[in-house]
This record gives sequence, C-alpha cells and structure tokens, in this order.
Amino acid sequence: MRQRTIAEPYKIKMVEPIRMTTRAERERAIEEAGYNTFLLRSDDVYIDLLTDSGTTAMSDRQWSAMMLGDEAYAGSRSFYRMEAAMREIYGFQHLVPTHQGRAAEHITSQIRIKPGQFVPMNMYFTTTRAHAERAGGVFFNCIVDEANDPWSDFPWKGNIDLAKLQALVDEHGADSIAYLSLAPCVNMAGGQPFSMANIREVSAWAKQYGLAIIFDATRAVENAYFIQQREEGYANRTVKAILREMMGYGEGCTVSSKKDNLVNIGGFLATNDDAFFRKAKEMVVIFEGMPTYGGLAGRDMEALAQGMVEMVEDDYIASRVRQVEYLGNKLIKAGIPIVRPIGGHGVFLDAKGFLAHLPQDEFPAQSLAAALFVDSGVRAMERGIVSAGRDHRTGEHHRPALELVRLTIPRRVYTNLHMDVVAESCQELWETRSAIHGLRMVYEPESLRFFQARFEPLVPVLHG
Ligand SMILES: *Cc1c(COP(=O)(O)O)cnc(C)c1O
Repeated sequence: MRQRTIAEPYKIKMVEPIRMTTRAERERAIEEAGYNTFLLRSDDVYIDLLTDSGTTAMSDRQWSAMMLGDEAYAGSRSFYRMEAAMREIYGFQHLVPTHQGRAAEHITSQIRIKPGQFVPMNMYFTTTRAHAERAGGVFFNCIVDEANDPWSDFPWKGNIDLAKLQALVDEHGADSIAYLSLAPCVNMAGGQPFSMANIREVSAWAKQYGLAIIFDATRAVENAYFIQQREEGYANRTVKAILREMMGYGEGCTVSSKKDNLVNIGGFLATNDDAFFRKAKEMVVIFEGMPTYGGLAGRDMEALAQGMVEMVEDDYIASRVRQVEYLGNKLIKAGIPIVRPIGGHGVFLDAKGFLAHLPQDEFPAQSLAAALFVDSGVRAMERGIVSAGRDHRTGEHHRPALELVRLTIPRRVYTNLHMDVVAESCQELWETRSAIHGLRMVYEPESLRFFQARFEPLVPVLHG
C-alpha cells in the first residue's frame, strides 16, 4: 500500500506575520549582536528555532479557558481545575504550582537535599543541577555511556546505568543519596528517551534502599511517545496511559510547563508524599505565592490545565515528534552530520563534522549558528565550547566532546514548509562550508557566558 501523508491534527485560526529580511540586513543584525544568536532581536529573525521553551502556540480551547480564569487570591477555582487535570494525567495526589520549572526545582532541592548528599541525574539540566548544588548537593551522572556518542544509534540514550548507581551505593552507602533526579527525553543529550523497562528496573532497585525517584518530568510526554513507538508491549497503549505508568515509578516530579504542557509560562511540583507536600507549601508562600496559585495567574492555571489534556492526545504528540523527524531526515538525506537518533524536541547539527576545518577554539558551532542566520534568518543555538564555559581552577575552556548547533522546534508554531526552508539553508551551508570562517571572543561574561558573549569574525566582513 502507498504510504499516506498524515497532516497536522489542527488547522490555523490566527496568524502572526513574520518577515524575511535581506542578506545585508541580516549581516548587519548579526554583527550588532556580536555573532551571538541570543543577542538578536526577534524582529530580525525569520524562523526562530532558538528554543522550544515557552514558544508554544496555544489552542482556541486554551485561549477561551483563560477567560474563565478565577483570579481569587486564595482557593481559586482555576487551581482546582489544574489540580484535577494533574491528578488525572500525571497521577500524583498533591500539586504546588510555581511560576516556572526552576522554582519547583528550588523548593524540591532545599527540602530534600542535605549538604554533602549525592543527587544522581541522567546527565543534567542546567537549572536542575544548579539548584541541587545550591542546596549543598553533589551532582552524580548516572546516564548510560551511549549518551555521549553522537553516532550511536542506541534508541534509549536517556537510560540510567544501574551499575553506576550500585557503585555509588557500595562506596558511600544509600544514606549518602538525597534522591534520584531522573529526566525523561534528556535535553542535554539531544532529547533522548529512557525505556520503561529501565525505569521499572531502577525503581525496583531504589526501593531496596528506600530511595525516592523525583522526575524532572518536563519532557515526559515526548518520552512516552518514544516508548509507544519503540518499546515492545507498548504499541497499543495510549501515550496518556504510558505517562501514568511512568510517573507511577516516582514519588513526585517537578515540571517546566513551558515545554510539554503547551503554555508560555508556568510550572509545578507534584508528589504523593504528605510531608514533602506540607514543607513545599510552606516554602512556596515565601518564594512564589499562596499554594493555590504559586506565582501564576488564575488564567495561566486554566491554560495549563487544558494544555495537559491536549498534550497527551496521541495525534498531537505524534505530529509534534514527527515534525522534528521530518527535518532531521531531510538533513540526513543530504548527508549533513546530525546527532542520532533524532530527538524529541530538536535536531542537533554536529558542528565538528560540519566545519571540520575549524579548530574547536575558533567556536565552530557559534560560527555555524551565525552563518545559518545570515543565510536564511533561521535562529539556532550554540551547544558546544561556548556553552560549556571555563574550568574555574585552570582558566582553560572546557572542551566538550559534543560541539552542536541546536535547531529546536516550537510546538504547533511552524509548518513543514518552514522546516523545508531550514533544511535548504543547512544544505546550502553544507555545500559551501569551506567558506565559513571561525570567530574570536571579544567579550566574555564570567558565568553562563553563552547568553551574552560577543564575537568577531576571524576575517573582516565585506558588506554587499
Ligand atoms: C526548561 C527546563 C527546566 C527549567 O524550567 P524553566 O521553566 O525554564 O524554569 C528544567 N528541566 C528541564 C529538562 C527543562 O527543559
């Protein structure tokens, strides 16, 4: 039978105009931005693939739910709607809303980590790790080795390596561990999932030692979709049922609602542990607001509740991940080096393979992201030596194995024609790659330098 196209499960009711600029305008814009895509004005960007965080298009149902927001200071009806949706979809008993994900991480870390305790994570996310460390925790990476190899086709690069956890317990004892902080669809590994079999095994292991799993469930729905597609025994289960099973192995979770939950701002903490919930409510009033709004407006909680319902619709999540794969497969077909397998939220160009003529100290990923913007107005993000920062003791750059440019796909925002434009631009650059020059850093902030660092090309630019 002929392979049939499956279109997006929605039609477009409202549009936001975007403008293609001229090459001369883009050359000026990137020069003014110090060759750093974070410093561009979004008005100068044609297709914005900087991040999938908070960049979602909401549905007509979410927008209309916002009009029903109850802005009461305490006991808001919108809170109870969000709580009911969370209970139904994630399956936890208690909900504490927060203004975004890192606030839930802050509260969780402060309550559950004693100074000096290890916090095992499958790779790390910047804010999750920073909050664990601020609470005195010691980051311990328990992800499988395949996660560090961009060429490995292993389908479960987000898996936890139990042998690494066992070795930690054998050496330091289970009391040295605060909890297991496990993330589905690991962002920093390229949006790579763990398998249900792996989580089941880790959960059984953790029980023996009385250790809790707290998920960073920010991208749990995308992970649930990969389980449905790839793992034996799950092909006929709904993403909604798979998500419930996954969350069932945790004692709680923190979530940035700016990803899976299909809203532009928000987050929450959820748990089945009464004592943790009580302490979290005490802390949330100090840092965020009353426990029935936690830094969100009533209308935000309404949009979030509706977003949770929509995110687990099988057609929606399939179309979201398939769009990422659509772009990735076009690049693979063109022979362009990208991280495999294609992840859940973006496509990662391997800048070392792309610009093999540039040494890492000339910032190949930063150069490639700047060149992509100049070619087509597509904004991507550097994830390489600039993002990795310096070793505080030696003053040397960290030189990460992965030197990547991340093309992150916002949810429900762009069509596949936009993806074609991105793919054509990448192909153009691939064919003319020897003309892409390196950069030198002319301004370097002390921490999180990638946000604000400024660069100059190693050869002078000629304005046309
Ligand atoms: C975005 C993100 C966070 C932080 O959430 P914010 O809403 O940006 O504060 C935490 N963990 C993961 C995996 C994320 O992607």
